[in-house]
Amino acid sequence: MRTLLDLILPQACGGCGVVGTGWCASCAGCLAGPPRRVRPRTDPGVPCWALGPYSGPPRRAVLAAKERGRRDLAAPLGLALARGLDGLRSRDRPLLLVPAPSRRVAARRRGGDPVARAARVATGWLSDSRCAPVLATRPGVRDSVGLGPLDRRRNLRDGIRATGDSLLALLRCPNVEVVLVDDVLTTGATARESVRALARAGVSAHGVLVTCAA
Ligand SMILES: [Zn+2]
Repeated sequence: MRTLLDLILPQACGGCGVVGTGWCASCAGCLAGPPRRVRPRTDPGVPCWALGPYSGPPRRAVLAAKERGRRDLAAPLGLALARGLDGLRSRDRPLLLVPAPSRRVAARRRGGDPVARAARVATGWLSDSRCAPVLATRPGVRDSVGLGPLDRRRNLRDGIRATGDSLLALLRCPNVEVVLVDDVLTTGATARESVRALARAGVSAHGVLVTCAA
């Protein structure tokens, strides 16, 4: 089936477009370094880390996963997240990954939620870890694409909530390490509102890891 599909539609790298592979070694290298500390304009109040820049192959890959339905990119993007988390996490505590929420309609239109999918892939590579998708945007929150920093904050203010009793109970356990994961961090507004929504539900986030940061 794969071979047949390849004949009809040659696979192109989600980062650079080279034909013959969905994700090439060179693009993988762009996300393979140790995560770098980033400081967004809107401070989420916890340390933020990024695997790569919001430019070049990493940017094209997250946009392909988000806007063009490239579900296959969840595997390499999830592996890159796992490698980054492996260097950041505390060894002696269970790691819980909370995917940042995407507006539900937007996620549906894009063929699922790529952030949650990559987070689940990451937990498959990490010991003693679990994905806890508890965050959702409230109705009325617009897609933030095209909004400036102030409008983003206004749009998102109290626009994210945490739901799901059993996962929230797990996230509140005192010995767990909770990391928010997202594909892109630009102004920091989504990360800040996500951390606040978790705090309102009694959950302390320890940090934020994103694939790309501006
Ligand atoms: Zn490539």
